[in-house]
Amino acid sequence: MKSFKQSKTLENLPQQFFAKLVKDVNKVTSEGHDVINLAQGNPDQPTPGHIIESAQEAVENPLFHKYSPFRGYPFFKEAASEFYKREYNVDIDPETEVAVLFGGKAGLIEVSQCLLDEGDIALVPDPGYPDYWSGISLAKAEMVPMPLHEKNDFLPDYSLVDKGSLAEAKLMFLNYPNNPTGAIATADFFSETVELAKDNEFCVVHDLAYGAIGFEGEKPLSFLQTEGAKDIGIEIYTLSKTYNMAGWRVGFAVGNPSVIAALNLLQDHLHCSLFGGVQKAAATALTSSQESVKNLVSLYENRRNFLMEQLHEIGWAAQAPKGSFFAWLPVPEGFTSESFFKVLLEEAHVAVAPGTGFGEYGEGYVRVGLLQDEEVLAEAVRRIGELGLFKQ
Ligand code: PMP
Repeated sequence: MKSFKQSKTLENLPQQFFAKLVKDVNKVTSEGHDVINLAQGNPDQPTPGHIIESAQEAVENPLFHKYSPFRGYPFFKEAASEFYKREYNVDIDPETEVAVLFGGKAGLIEVSQCLLDEGDIALVPDPGYPDYWSGISLAKAEMVPMPLHEKNDFLPDYSLVDKGSLAEAKLMFLNYPNNPTGAIATADFFSETVELAKDNEFCVVHDLAYGAIGFEGEKPLSFLQTEGAKDIGIEIYTLSKTYNMAGWRVGFAVGNPSVIAALNLLQDHLHCSLFGGVQKAAATALTSSQESVKNLVSLYENRRNFLMEQLHEIGWAAQAPKGSFFAWLPVPEGFTSESFFKVLLEEAHVAVAPGTGFGEYGEGYVRVGLLQDEEVLAEAVRRIGELGLFKQ
């Protein structure tokens, strides 16, 4: 069989970090060990019943058996607009300021293709979500990392970013609540970001994937609540986390109409929008009771508090996340992210995500998901404690 050579564009793609991780975990599992997987970010709870019922009804509607409108059904875009008004008091024009997406990931990758040419610069958080890199690479653009340090609450310190890169940049990715650090943004930081983007004429893409998940009563901000944000940026929202709909592949972008128009134009060439039944279910999720969201956040908060307590008991000193469903934990002395990941996997049979998978500045940390029941979290910590790596 002839094996065709891949294009240079594909050859130059960054290595898919999670694909490699899954391989390592599978190897240990195939040796007969029962591995507790805390490495991935797949929500463990089911989609709420009222959303499923809405989809079930929609499946039977012959309207949805036809091609969907290229740019999505108006009812879904109106639901997105209603959601932003209700949750954030932000006005969004459903016609010109919403683009329907096959999940957040698709939009995050498409936006680079929409705004970047070969050799252009995009600023990315480091550590940060690796999908930003994929889109930048597909656009043959360059990325400049903005380090996120614990001493700065994992917000980039713009005074430390090279002035030339800021002046040249076309795009900046941000993500709060943050994957992987669990940090949340402040209104002042978002205002500073708007000013910087105006001065340097770049577009800000804020990834609000974990927007619903803030702890201790704190509601994470939408970037679009910042004065002037819509002039210079967009926000990408996904239903994957807020409504446990990761498998449904549905999200949307909102904000600056010129960027929304670019996304819509690219998508006219790539797809013919989502199945109408998925759009219907998503609209139901966005506009009906949000009780399930409240319950979900409290489930994650209980797991977070439980995990932090357990970690402290074995002498693992770590900060509790302020949002998202991840905890970002410092590795003990004498280890790197990667060597600690290996020890936990091979000796405790616990899989975590090594911080360096999220960029150079992820060194010194591992990421743990709050996506298992408390008993499983307790067992994972017990196994790690038995290794005796932490000073009590
Ligand atoms: N952004 C971040 C930071 C994420 O962690 C994820 C999911 N892992 C996404 C975006 C994309 O989610 P989806 O494609 O399911 O909408």
